[in-house]
Amino acid sequence: CNVPADRCQVHHIDAHKHGGYTKPSNLTMLCKYHNGVNDDDGPRKKRKRPSPGKPKRGRMRRHRGKVRLHTPGGKLVGNTHHVSSMGAMDLI
Ligand SMILES: [Zn+2]
Repeated sequence: CNVPADRCQVHHIDAHKHGGYTKPSNLTMLCKYHNGVNDDDGPRKKRKRPSPGKPKRGRMRRHRGKVRLHTPGGKLVGNTHHVSSMGAMDLI
Protein backbone atom coordinates (compact mmCIF):
# COMPACT_ATOMS: atom_id res chain seq x y z
CA CYS A 1 0.00 0.00 0.00
CA ASN A 2 1.12 3.62 0.13
CA VAL A 3 2.05 3.93 3.81
CA PRO A 4 5.74 4.92 4.03
CA ALA A 5 8.07 2.53 5.88
CA ASP A 6 8.74 5.05 8.64
CA ARG A 7 5.06 4.82 9.60
CA CYS A 8 4.91 1.00 9.40
CA GLN A 9 5.34 -1.83 11.87
CA VAL A 10 7.96 -4.56 11.74
CA HIS A 11 6.25 -7.78 10.65
CA HIS A 12 7.53 -11.31 11.27
CA ILE A 13 7.04 -13.30 8.02
CA ASP A 14 7.10 -16.56 10.01
CA ALA A 15 4.93 -15.47 12.93
CA HIS A 16 6.73 -14.84 16.20
CA LYS A 17 3.92 -16.68 17.99
CA HIS A 18 4.84 -19.78 15.95
CA GLY A 19 8.56 -19.48 16.74
CA GLY A 20 9.55 -17.15 13.88
CA TYR A 21 12.90 -15.51 14.51
CA THR A 22 13.55 -11.80 14.86
CA LYS A 23 16.24 -11.62 12.19
CA PRO A 24 16.36 -9.50 9.00
CA SER A 25 15.49 -12.36 6.63
CA ASN A 26 12.26 -12.99 8.58
CA LEU A 27 11.19 -9.35 8.84
CA THR A 28 9.45 -6.88 6.59
CA MET A 29 7.59 -3.60 7.02
CA LEU A 30 3.79 -3.52 6.93
CA CYS A 31 1.36 -0.78 7.81
CA LYS A 32 -0.70 -1.30 10.96
CA TYR A 33 -3.73 -2.41 8.94
CA HIS A 34 -1.92 -4.97 6.75
CA ASN A 35 0.10 -6.27 9.70
CA GLY A 36 -3.20 -6.85 11.50
CA VAL A 37 -4.96 -8.69 8.66
CA ASN A 38 -2.01 -10.94 7.76
CA ASP A 39 -3.03 -14.59 8.06
CA ASP A 40 -0.31 -15.58 10.54
CA ASP A 41 -1.74 -19.05 10.96
CA GLY A 42 -1.65 -19.66 7.20
CA PRO A 43 -1.41 -23.24 6.01
CA ARG A 44 0.22 -24.42 9.25
CA LYS A 45 -3.16 -24.92 10.87
CA LYS A 46 -5.64 -27.26 9.29
CA ARG A 47 -8.92 -25.63 10.10
CA LYS A 48 -12.15 -27.54 9.87
CA ARG A 49 -14.08 -24.32 9.49
CA PRO A 50 -12.94 -20.80 8.54
CA SER A 51 -12.22 -18.76 11.63
CA PRO A 52 -15.15 -16.47 12.35
CA GLY A 53 -14.78 -12.71 12.22
CA LYS A 54 -11.40 -12.45 10.51
CA PRO A 55 -11.54 -12.84 6.73
CA LYS A 56 -8.61 -14.50 5.00
CA ARG A 57 -6.47 -11.81 3.42
CA GLY A 58 -3.39 -13.81 2.54
CA ARG A 59 -0.02 -13.74 4.19
CA MET A 60 3.44 -12.41 3.60
CA ARG A 61 6.09 -14.87 2.45
CA ARG A 62 9.67 -14.72 1.32
CA HIS A 63 10.05 -16.23 -2.15
CA ARG A 64 13.40 -16.36 -3.97
CA GLY A 65 14.74 -13.78 -1.56
CA LYS A 66 11.96 -11.25 -2.03
CA VAL A 67 8.96 -10.53 0.18
CA ARG A 68 5.70 -11.38 -1.54
CA LEU A 69 2.02 -11.42 -0.64
CA HIS A 70 0.67 -14.95 -0.93
CA THR A 71 -2.96 -14.29 -1.82
CA PRO A 72 -5.79 -16.57 -0.68
CA GLY A 73 -6.02 -17.65 -4.35
CA GLY A 74 -2.41 -18.84 -4.31
CA LYS A 75 -0.70 -16.05 -6.27
CA LEU A 76 2.55 -14.45 -5.14
CA VAL A 77 2.37 -10.69 -5.58
CA GLY A 78 5.30 -8.32 -5.18
CA ASN A 79 5.23 -4.69 -4.15
CA THR A 80 4.57 -2.69 -7.31
CA HIS A 81 4.86 0.78 -5.77
CA HIS A 82 7.19 2.90 -7.90
CA VAL A 83 9.66 3.48 -5.05
CA SER A 84 9.59 -0.05 -3.62
CA SER A 85 12.86 -1.04 -5.25
CA MET A 86 14.68 1.91 -3.68
CA GLY A 87 14.09 0.94 -0.06
CA ALA A 88 16.51 -0.76 2.27
CA MET A 89 14.05 -3.62 2.82
CA ASP A 90 14.32 -4.55 -0.86
CA LEU A 91 18.03 -5.20 -0.33
CA ILE A 92 17.46 -7.75 2.42
ZN1 LIG B 1 -0.66 -1.42 4.17
